[in-house]
Amino acid sequence: MSEEIQQLKQILSLPKEITIVTHRNPDGDAIGSSMGLAAYLQKLHHQVKVIFPSEYPTSYSFIAGVQRAMIFDLDPNAARQAIDKSEVIFCLDFNGLDRVDKLGESIQFAKAKKILIDHHLDPEPFTDIEFSDISASSTCELVFKLIDDLGDRHKIDPSMGESIFTGLITDTGSFRYGTRPYTYEVAAALKQAGVDDYLLSDKIYNSQKVKHLRLLGHCLANRMEIMEDYGVGIMWLTRKDYADFDIQRGDTEGIVNYMLMIENVKVAAFILEQPAIIKISLRSKGDISVQEIAQKYFNGGGHKNASGGGVYASLKDVKDRVRKVMPEYLKKYQDQKQIN
Ligand code: 5GP
Ligand code: MN
Repeated sequence: MSEEIQQLKQILSLPKEITIVTHRNPDGDAIGSSMGLAAYLQKLHHQVKVIFPSEYPTSYSFIAGVQRAMIFDLDPNAARQAIDKSEVIFCLDFNGLDRVDKLGESIQFAKAKKILIDHHLDPEPFTDIEFSDISASSTCELVFKLIDDLGDRHKIDPSMGESIFTGLITDTGSFRYGTRPYTYEVAAALKQAGVDDYLLSDKIYNSQKVKHLRLLGHCLANRMEIMEDYGVGIMWLTRKDYADFDIQRGDTEGIVNYMLMIENVKVAAFILEQPAIIKISLRSKGDISVQEIAQKYFNGGGHKNASGGGVYASLKDVKDRVRKVMPEYLKKYQDQKQIN
């Protein structure tokens, strides 16, 4: 048993007030890992609260217990109180306090024992115990491993298993990238525990509203530009599009990936003109890393093949920046490859 697991076992040996926090705009992995871990800790008789900094996409309403999660944006005081009262805070699926908005400050100054479970590069040292592994497909995979290492695999029931399986599916694009052999072992164990993975995929992917498909059509038909010479796809949405298509948080998730379906396109950028900020989502294929671009040019970060960021600039400026930066970056990449 590793030292961290021993420490954790000790911490969880008596019932505690526990809060689980995940990143803003929570995705399948963030929601699944948080709710899966919450269900597990409840089985151990702890008092557990889950806090999302911002609202979750309604397509994840099927995840057990998610309706009881607190949303900081909707009730900041209740969320702050929960943090202040906690004896233990689990930080899931994020590597720095800037990913949880204003909750970051509360977490930083909280007296609770802080525990990180995450698979992003270079976690900042804001927690006491770290379960960080960038080779894991998802935070859900790490939550499973943690429960298993604590000797409690048998406590995983079908509904808890479904939450945990969700992150495996969503963070690997249905097992198409980011997997390692252990990912499939986890999938096998969860299926063994009673998860209906066909039904789960159906719940995750076939729950779109008509407006989602209309928005996708609009993006593909009217808001896409391909830099053929460099294999770069650029897509954008204007503030007016947000109003015209009634776009809510989460409605744009997954659209950026469509550009990678185009022959030769290796990097995709999706630029979103949100009320206060321009958000950018970057995706790449194979060896090309978008993490560095996100960090260097768009105040962001993330993973090698999926990163994001946000800048205070005009939509046009950000588009121009992408058009300029991508060819330079990809050229450097080519040169470097030839040297190595
Ligand atoms: P998405 O493009 O889906 O919003 O984000 C993809 C990944 O990029 C996320 O899983 C996260 O790791 C990272 N990411 C997105 N936005 C930001 C940001 O503003 N800052 C940082 N550091 N990472 C981000
Ligand atoms: Mn994740």
